[in-house]
Amino acid sequence: MPRNARVLALANQKGGVAKTTTTLNLGVALKDMGARVLAIDLDPQSNLSMSQGVDVESLSLGMYHVLTGTATMSEIIQAREIDIAPAGIELAGAELALSAAIGRERSLERALRPVRQLYDYILLDTPPSLGLLTINAMVAAEGVIVPVQCEYLSLRGLAQLRQTLLQVRENLNPTVDIVGILPTMYDGRTVHGREAVQMIEESFGERVYRTRIGKTIRFAEAPVEGKSVIRYDPHGQAARWYRQLAREVAAGPVGVVVPGGAGKAAA
Ligand code: ADP
Ligand code: MG
Repeated sequence: MPRNARVLALANQKGGVAKTTTTLNLGVALKDMGARVLAIDLDPQSNLSMSQGVDVESLSLGMYHVLTGTATMSEIIQAREIDIAPAGIELAGAELALSAAIGRERSLERALRPVRQLYDYILLDTPPSLGLLTINAMVAAEGVIVPVQCEYLSLRGLAQLRQTLLQVRENLNPTVDIVGILPTMYDGRTVHGREAVQMIEESFGERVYRTRIGKTIRFAEAPVEGKSVIRYDPHGQAARWYRQLAREVAAGPVGVVVPGGAGKAAA
């Protein structure tokens, strides 16, 4: 019997925490482990699409059309390092277009049904907000990975994310939960960096991945060439970090999922 993809959403309403970078590089690392991987761009800023060299200016069909029912997933998927479902700027209008629709929170879940059996992982890159696009991702996903920058105040806003997740769980998708917190842009040479990770671990305990994604300019360089950092600098430490994360993700959710609760953290 064909297996259903694990659908994982990368979410944090704070921008610049490495949601997009993680979607792509985790995806490529999982592919290198033999998995079939689709990454979906749910951000109207199209960073994921652009980072794989998709020309979003001339994109005629993208996630906007899928979510509003005028295209199917298989019509828009483009084969790159991994399969990409791109988005153009018109996706910014999706929240409004969907707002009056019945089942508006389930558009993505519905659209994914026909392709779920074609992949082992479907990764959802979400925009920096907790609006309808991110909610669609939480409804379609079995788990949420939350990249968190290793900085003071990085935990601010996570309470809001968990509140949204709780509402999604109560009303739309009872089993979705945070499957892992990913510390990003970690600088272990500074006291600040180490303290920030400590704070994250105090709040989220076992749900924090062992992998720390360090800070390096490679992450900014790679998208300029339309590549993941894993293809851009395969032997570098950045590639190594994401390969390690991929092994952790493949091993399953970290920590204990508390039924009906968002874990023991107080953030
Ligand atoms: P988000 O999708 O959460 O907004 P991005 O993945 O786009 O975040 O990352 C924001 C910026 O930070 C990008 O310019 C990216 O290249 C850079 N970046 C991502 N991860 C790292 C890292 N580990 N070290 C240094 N820069 C990073
Ligand atoms: Mg992004």
